[in-house]
Amino acid sequence: MSAEQAEKWTILRLLEWTTEYFGKSGSDSPRLDAELLLSEARGCERIELYTAFNEEPGDEVRTAFRELVRRRGEGTPVSQLLGRKEFYSLSFRVSEDTLIPRPETEHLVIEALDEFKRQGQSKESLQIADVGTGSGIIAICLAKNLPNARFTAIDISAAALRVAETNAAAHKVQDRIQFIEGDLLAKLPETPTLDMICSNPPYVSEAEYAELDKSVRDFEPRQALVGGPDGTETIVRLIAEALPRLKPGGRLIFELSPMIVDQVIEHLAHVDAAEDVRVIKDLAGHKRIVSVARSQ
Ligand code: GLN
Repeated sequence: MSAEQAEKWTILRLLEWTTEYFGKSGSDSPRLDAELLLSEARGCERIELYTAFNEEPGDEVRTAFRELVRRRGEGTPVSQLLGRKEFYSLSFRVSEDTLIPRPETEHLVIEALDEFKRQGQSKESLQIADVGTGSGIIAICLAKNLPNARFTAIDISAAALRVAETNAAAHKVQDRIQFIEGDLLAKLPETPTLDMICSNPPYVSEAEYAELDKSVRDFEPRQALVGGPDGTETIVRLIAEALPRLKPGGRLIFELSPMIVDQVIEHLAHVDAAEDVRVIKDLAGHKRIVSVARSQ
């Protein structure tokens, strides 16, 4: 390679340089991050970079890319730089006001859909609540798969609800989801009208939060993550508020940390209205989802 060629900032060279830089600045997936940001700056699909390795992007693309690289280097999550994250094979808008969807939460969606299949109820009209909806992923994925169900999606953050509403409209399910600003289920009447309540509540303890990566602590909302001093407080409140609002046999399905699962199951054993507790593991083999029925 001549000296002149070596100087050229081709797509390949940009990717290699950035991958090394992200690696040093602590990213777990430096090459992927570099590719996602360069395809964003270039306005193309990631795969298209592979057929354009020798191309030299113009000034506009380089300037946009440099800015994205700078912010990623400071720790901003890639999904916030792109403004979107894929979840359950759908693309969702995210912002600094919402938790970034995590793959573990897909198990919650799968379990909720499996539950209706087991009950043979998927064709009837169902009433479902998503508590702490954030970007709206749970309600929206369920709505896409349960065309006759109606949803109430609740969040304490008005800014998160605006993101969720945008997502519901993008996925054309906004007519079946009512968005409510509120703390857990306090805004819903205490009557047994719901077939299911789903939630990915904040479940990190104060101590665990302090240990979380800076890229989480500095960029995602604290109130979406911390569930009280030992991580169980919000879940205990969720259980107390959810069971009276479920029809007999209706289920509360929620995500939690494997660190607190035993404590939460022990708690459920003392809740009169709770029966038939099931625990679902995530892909890493961690107990991640709890499903509990309201007693008949
Ligand atoms: N329901 C959203 C999610 O699962 C937000 C959850 C939250 O903010 N704790 O990503």
